Amino acid sequence: ADLYGIHRWANDYFGLNSDGNVTAKTLNTQVPLLDIIHGMAERDLQMPVLLRIENILDAQLCRLNEAFRNAIDECGYQNRYRGVYPIKVNQQAQVVEEIADFGARYQHGFEVGSKPEMIAALSTLKEPGSLIICNGYKDAEFIELGLNAVQLGFECYFVVETPTELPIILERSRALGIEPLIGIRAKMTSAVSGHWNSTSGDRSVFGLTSTQMIHAVDRLRDEGMLHCLKLLHCHLGSQIPNIRDIRSGIVEACRYYADLVSEGAAMTHLDLGGGLAIDYTGAQTNDGQSRNYSLEEYCEGIVDTLKTSFDNCGIAHPVIITESGRATVAYSSVLLFNVLDVTTFEPVALPAADIERPELKHLRDVFSYLTPERVQECYNDAHYYRDEIREQFKFGQIDLRTRSIAENLFLDILQRIANLMDSMDRVPPDLEGLRTSLADIYYGNFSLFQSLPDIWAIEQLFPIMPVHRLQEAPTRQAVLADITCDCDGKIDRFIDPWEGTAATLPLHPLKEGEEYYLGVFLVGAYQEILGDLHNLFGDTNVVSVRLNRDGSFDFVKEIYGDSIADVLSYVEYQPKELYKKFRDTAEQAVKDKRISASDRQRMMNTFNASLQGYTYYER
Ligand code: PLP
Repeated sequence: ADLYGIHRWANDYFGLNSDGNVTAKTLNTQVPLLDIIHGMAERDLQMPVLLRIENILDAQLCRLNEAFRNAIDECGYQNRYRGVYPIKVNQQAQVVEEIADFGARYQHGFEVGSKPEMIAALSTLKEPGSLIICNGYKDAEFIELGLNAVQLGFECYFVVETPTELPIILERSRALGIEPLIGIRAKMTSAVSGHWNSTSGDRSVFGLTSTQMIHAVDRLRDEGMLHCLKLLHCHLGSQIPNIRDIRSGIVEACRYYADLVSEGAAMTHLDLGGGLAIDYTGAQTNDGQSRNYSLEEYCEGIVDTLKTSFDNCGIAHPVIITESGRATVAYSSVLLFNVLDVTTFEPVALPAADIERPELKHLRDVFSYLTPERVQECYNDAHYYRDEIREQFKFGQIDLRTRSIAENLFLDILQRIANLMDSMDRVPPDLEGLRTSLADIYYGNFSLFQSLPDIWAIEQLFPIMPVHRLQEAPTRQAVLADITCDCDGKIDRFIDPWEGTAATLPLHPLKEGEEYYLGVFLVGAYQEILGDLHNLFGDTNVVSVRLNRDGSFDFVKEIYGDSIADVLSYVEYQPKELYKKFRDTAEQAVKDKRISASDRQRMMNTFNASLQGYTYYER
């Protein structure tokens, strides 16, 4: 059974094989993630590792471009689609370079929102005619970079986001004698659902109001530059779950576009921004973690709405641009980590003599009336007597050993109640959370804050599951804790393919001497760059693989994660200085005869090896 719903959320990029392994799938081949993990171990790439699968990125770019191409053919739309990848979604050089390479056959370009992103785009794109869309707040330097791009033959549009940008664009282009390509970003008023809905609406901080747009048009006309205004930009939000919101937003966009044409602008491009959602849960619903449409429906919805709207007002069909970020990169990265330890809430077997202690009589008695009819009463009594024991311990009336036996009896009662509840038709509301409160805690070798920040920040759900042993039934229910010392560093909300969400994840018991690996899927968008250094856990190791048709795979690139020296230098320590200071402390201890010189050397070697080592738990 597909207990983790992999067939729902994996978009055909991951599957299960008959050995109980999760596989990465493309090009009619399947490679078990466990084989890749073994390859990492042989190359001394320790867990946690962020695995990038190149073919998935390639395939997503292909699916997106082909889906638009098909929709355009089917609807008889009289222009083409051009995609751009918004660099902010994952700026890692590897990813951006791969997108430039794989996207070249579709002339897939980049969207940039800052000068550093502009520099990355300019130095990665090679083909003349490549599209660069410049969003964000642009100063004179940003604009000069863009004008240079135009002169080099790139199709680089400045999307005017604020009224103050236009005069700088006009001034710089005159000074350099380079005609700019100008776009205007409309402040969209169509409401969308989902987490990122404040991108549109009257109070949105992005784009020009209709009054500001008219002022911009008038200014361009006055300056004799209206022919440079060619593009309208409309971004409704990210991860838009409902296709109806997308369609109604596009209708608004068409109206802006048509009126800019009427004003005399030389309009040729309509940029609809991002928003194509990922179905993280696989539920195909219009809640924020899913979407109620397929990629094909998305493209058809856009192309069909545009065609109808423009045909109605007799306007030539513009080039369609979208800035899909999440949908381009999310599938291609998986966070892999090993489980370091487990805490269970199971009672241990106790010698009869311990249980017979007179102080425990009340708690012991509860077992005698533990029946389905009296579970609520037993639950109340167990808590009452357990608390009484804790009070007595506080006042020195019972010792630690007795308290420990009492806690154990208490757990025993709760476990038995939970087992009885499994066969009961109606569970008392008080007891509904009991199973969850008895769930195991699996300690994973990762930092939530570094690798999965959206789980912490916005309660994002990502598919999480073991990547092997799936031929065995997972008999434990667990929550996950990371290795930061922060009580927020835990995951206690999971995707349940039937119920939507669940408070626990079914997992396998650990086996002595064997690693247990979990994967967090669909993490390619936004997680790497939003991650932080909480507790000084740094970037993880990153491995890029390419799957081959014959079922083999190549390690294309590997990047070792931050060393301890790296993360310390990010917070302004000088690793060389640290080593010297530690040496002075150790040398003083030799002088004071507290340690020997060889002790000193051993300590310094350990210190130095640590500085060079990985920030995560090393085996
Ligand atoms: N374009 C702009 C202007 C954005 O602000 C964003 C993200 O919010 C995107 C594109 C990418 O959106 P998505 O990741 O939903 O494709």
